[in-house]
Amino acid sequence: MLIPCLACESRFGPDEFFRACSDYNRGRDLVAWTCPRCGNHDELRVLPGELGFGYPQCGRFAVYDRLRVPGLRRQRGDLRLDISLESASWRVFTRVRQPV
Ligand SMILES: [Zn+2]
Repeated sequence: MLIPCLACESRFGPDEFFRACSDYNRGRDLVAWTCPRCGNHDELRVLPGELGFGYPQCGRFAVYDRLRVPGLRRQRGDLRLDISLESASWRVFTRVRQPV
C-alpha cells in the first residue's frame, strides 16, 4: 500500500506518509500534510477506509480524489486525531492557536 504525493507523485508507505501529517483541524476535519520529498503542503481528510484529497471551495472542503486504504481507522480526540492501520498508529495533534 503506497500513498502518493499529488504534487510530485512520489509514493510513500503508510508510516512515512502519516508521520508527515501535522496539525489536525478539528473544525474542518482536515490534517495538514507536508511532502517529505518535495515539501508540498496539502490538506486531506482521513476517513474510515480511505483518504480524501481535495481543496477548499465556498468555505468547505471539497473532496475530489479518494484513495482507498483498506483497514484505515480514525478516532477524533479533543486536540488530536488518532489514525491507525493494522498494528500501527499515528497521532496528529491540533496546533493550538493563541488568540492575539
Ligand atoms: Zn511531493
